[in-house]
Amino acid sequence: MEWAMNAMDDTLEMEILAAPILEERPWAVFSACRDADPDIFFGATKEETKQALALCAVCPVRSDCLEHALEARERFGIWGGTTESERRKILRRIA
Ligand code: SF4
Repeated sequence: MEWAMNAMDDTLEMEILAAPILEERPWAVFSACRDADPDIFFGATKEETKQALALCAVCPVRSDCLEHALEARERFGIWGGTTESERRKILRRIA
């Protein structure tokens, strides 16, 4: 029974934490990464980056994600199928 209560607490905690994110980025509910380990998007290894980019490649909200990342000047991680350096290049090009 205790494990069930802990699982419910974890679910409730995740919903509470996710609420502001979904308010800011409602498209995130459709993202290919919604159940993925967020660490791979900020991965230190090439393999993690490759896994994150593979999810982005099939993500139905990729353009929304990239638009958000560019507008918010997200400096770290993989967003919208781009790396940090790729976003910097895009921002320089459109400046
Ligand atoms: S484009 Fe990539 S980072 Fe953005 S929501 Fe989709 S899978 Fe996640």
